[in-house]
Order: sequence, then C-alpha cells, then structure tokens
Amino acid sequence: MTTLQVADITVSPDHYIGGRRVASSETFELRSPIDQQVLGRISEGTAEHVEAAIQAAQSAFQGWSAMTAARRKPYLDRFAQEIGKRADAFCLLESNDAGVLLSRMRHGVVPRSMLNISYFAEHALTLQERPIETEQASHIVRHDPAGVTVIITPWNSPLLLSTWKLGPALAAGNTCILKPPEWAPLTCSLLADAAHAAGLPPGVFNVVQGTGASTGAKLVSDPRIARVSFTGSVPTAKWIAQAAGANLVPCSLELGGKSPFLVLEDADIEGAAATAALMYRNAGQVCLAGTRILVHEKVAERFVATMRGFVENLRVGDPREESTEIGPIIHPRQVERVQGFVDRAVEAGAKLLWGGTKHPYGAQYFAPTLLTNVAQDSEIVQNEVFGPVLTLQTFASDEEAVALANGTDYGLGGVCYGEVAHATEVAQAVRTGFIWINSFGIRDLGAPFGGIKRSGIGREGGDWSFEFFCDVKDVVVPKKPFRASFSQR
Ligand code: NAD
Repeated sequence: MTTLQVADITVSPDHYIGGRRVASSETFELRSPIDQQVLGRISEGTAEHVEAAIQAAQSAFQGWSAMTAARRKPYLDRFAQEIGKRADAFCLLESNDAGVLLSRMRHGVVPRSMLNISYFAEHALTLQERPIETEQASHIVRHDPAGVTVIITPWNSPLLLSTWKLGPALAAGNTCILKPPEWAPLTCSLLADAAHAAGLPPGVFNVVQGTGASTGAKLVSDPRIARVSFTGSVPTAKWIAQAAGANLVPCSLELGGKSPFLVLEDADIEGAAATAALMYRNAGQVCLAGTRILVHEKVAERFVATMRGFVENLRVGDPREESTEIGPIIHPRQVERVQGFVDRAVEAGAKLLWGGTKHPYGAQYFAPTLLTNVAQDSEIVQNEVFGPVLTLQTFASDEEAVALANGTDYGLGGVCYGEVAHATEVAQAVRTGFIWINSFGIRDLGAPFGGIKRSGIGREGGDWSFEFFCDVKDVVVPKKPFRASFSQR
C-alpha cells in the first residue's frame, strides 16, 4: 500500500473501492498552494477503477438500502466520530493541499463535517412512511433509496462539501462514489479511512481519485448511476448535466455565484464594512461570497473609507499560522485567471480602490482588491472571478439597487444591510437562492441551500436533501373491493 506523508500525517494517495485501497499505475502530481512544494502523486482513476467502484457500490446497495434508517444510524454516528478522532489530520491536510486556514478548519470545517454526517443520520429517522387517507384509498408514501450515487466536489472546501452530500445520501440508504477535486484530494482520502474505521460495509462508500475530464466524466456518464450530486463551476455542470441527461439521471447542481452585497442608505456602515471585508475569506474562493458591493450613493464614501480600514488590517500569509486571515490561491493557473480579470477590468476603465496585483507574501497570494467605475454589463461584474476581487457600484434608489442586484445570470446568495424591515423588504425582490439580512454565512443544516439561474438546480439541506437522494413511491391500497372498468378515470 502506498502512502504519502504530508505535515507528518500519513494519508493514502489511492482509491478506496469495496472497502480496500486500490492503487493506479497512472498518477498525477499534487502541489501545495502555500509554497508550491510537491506533496506527492495521486492515483488517477481509470475505466477499470470506475467499473470496480460502480460494481462495489451496486452490490453493497442491496444490504445497505434494505436496512432501516435506524439501523444505518449507528454506522453513520461512528463515521462522524471517526472524523472527529482525525480532526488534526483533516485540518493539516486541507490546509496543506487546499490552502484553507488551519483555524477555520479546526473551528468551522471539521465540526461541521461531523455534523453533516450525524445530523442527516438523525434526520433520516423522520423519513417514515407518510400516510394519505382518502375516501377511495389509503396511500403509503415512501422515500426509497435511489441507488448508486456519484458525488463530485470542488477544491475550495472539499471536506465540508463532500460530507454535506455524503451525509444525506448514505443516511437515505444510497451507496456512494466520491470523486474528489484533483487539486485538493487528501481530506477525501482520509474520509475513506474514517469510514473504514467506522465499519461501514465494503462498497457503501467508495473514493475514486482522478481528474474531472477523465475519471469524473466516466462516472457521471455511466447508465448504472442513480444520482449525480455536483458542486463546482457552471461549464462543468453543463457538461455533467448533458452526460447524465443522456441516461435521464437526476443531477443536483450547486454552482458559482456573483452575489450582490447591498448597503442601503439606512445601513449600519461599520457592520456592513466589516462584513464586506469578510468576502475576502478563503482568498475569495467562496461560492456564496457577496462579491458585488452595491452601496447607496449617499453613504458610499463613508462605506469605502470604513471598509478600507478593515482591509488594511487583514493578514495575508501562511494558512497554517493562527493569525493569518487570507491564505493562498489554489493554483498558479487560478492566480493568472484572477490577474487577467483585474487587468481587463482596468483596461476597460475600472478604477482600483485597493489591491490589483499579487501579494508580496508569495507567488500564489493575491492582494484583496476592490474595483469601482465598473459597468453593469462588463466582464468583471458579470463573471465569477473566484479570487479576492470585489466590485463596487452605487445606486440612488431601492429600485435601482434591486435592478443591479438582479442584473447577472447568477442567483446563488446575497447580503443586504439596512434597517431590518427595509432590508428585508428589499431582499424579497432580489432573485437568489438565499439572502442574509445584516449578517453573512448563517447556515442551518435543516434550511434549503442552493441557487437559481446559472447558480444551480436543486436544493440541499434538511428534507430537500432527501427529496433528491430518494425515490418517492406511493403504495395505493383501495378501501373498497376494486372492479376493473374501462369507464374508470
Ligand atoms: P470545477 O467545475 O472545475 O470542478 C469541480 C469538480 O468537478 C472537480 O472535482 C473536477 O474534477 C470535476 N470535474 C471537472 N470536469 C468534469 C467532468 N467533465 N465530469 C465530471 N466531473 C468533472 O470547479 P472548481 O474550479 O473545482 O471549483 C470552483 C467552482 O465551484 C466555482 O465556480 C464555485 O463557485 C463553485 N462552488 C460552488 C459551491 C456551491 O455550493 N454553490 C460551493 C463551492 C464551490
């Protein structure tokens, strides 16, 4: 068995199929975004590994799906506990391969990932048969497990996003194949160790490492798959939806965003500016960040001055250091992409209020950037940058604010600062999957999460997760003896 040593943590670079580690002869290189150090080589999933994973998941489905939710729960509770036992390893691995802040891993991501598993194990107990009684018949409405589920996640928060899907998929009785992001695959591999130690039956949870265009594409194109749950970019989603659509396989798609951050005339400017600075978190590699600041013209100057104060104090640096607030960008290609967006915006007439270039800390660090004098139809306003780059536009009325907020093809999230009743009213008119009033990032596992327009299809969280991961079946028992008749409706 091959292993990697990353930050003194031992982790497998291989697949996990049918309860066993499986290596590939084909591998790809993994580098850390912190300092471009080579962390090791990761197994690439070939057609053979995809086939083995599907077969393992199919044969495990019989036993796992036949269990009640109550019988599956102890397995999943142990899975959550095993994640907790490896908390330090998860933190160090994801900090090293994805550049996520160690402090955020410790205090946010790992506890939440444990909850992603245990919450849905508990919530699945409510998925009992729901009776519907009519004069004619008794209906027994069941939520049955759908089958083999493919889960594909991006690099900006692999552990959190993978467990967010795995929790409900497994709790509902599906078996899963996880295809981790190739730029940050290590915590997904460690998840397999946790599942193994928890005693999940072989084949219930499988990991096939590999690149999207090769391994991922093979998985989502297979007709034996019952569901695809994807988080990632719009172009990949379109491709996946087509491949899965060819087999009429339902997809859940959580995609990018270009969410508005509204600051109304009656907003608490200090609070709004502090939250706006938070949009640089994870070096701006956050789908739900409010990246388009829309501020009332009467308070714009004060808002910018206050926000500047917060941004000047942000500490860019090594994500493994406790005091760091902004870490690296995932990949040199992504750094170039971010710089390209900024350069083209400036060429088109945008004005830099701060930032605009790489940060002196290192090659993959980018300075928090704010651009103003940007046209609504410009590239920088219309497209997701996925880096620490925000735009600022002003408005003179609520109507104008809403028109600007709704003026992109995205519709993931939003933030609205203002007097509560006023902000809530304005927020009703913003076309988006969710919007936070005078706050940011409050998420409950029971609440719906997902986007509209180009930001995605479907909702996850609470019952919404189960609606996707289950097949709903109505068993109809007539109350009177049934006689066949051609005139019956
Ligand atoms: P990406 O679409 O390039 O890749 C995401 C995953 O898809 C990776 O695992 C990749 O290997 C895989 N993939 C790529 N091509 C594939 C194919 N043809 N078939 C199957 N799988 C394939 O996205 P990314 O660059 O890794 O992530 C950033 C994007 O994710 C941003 O757009 C961001 O907004 C989005 N995102 C959305 C959410 C959300 O909840 N809405 C959360 C986090 C990130």
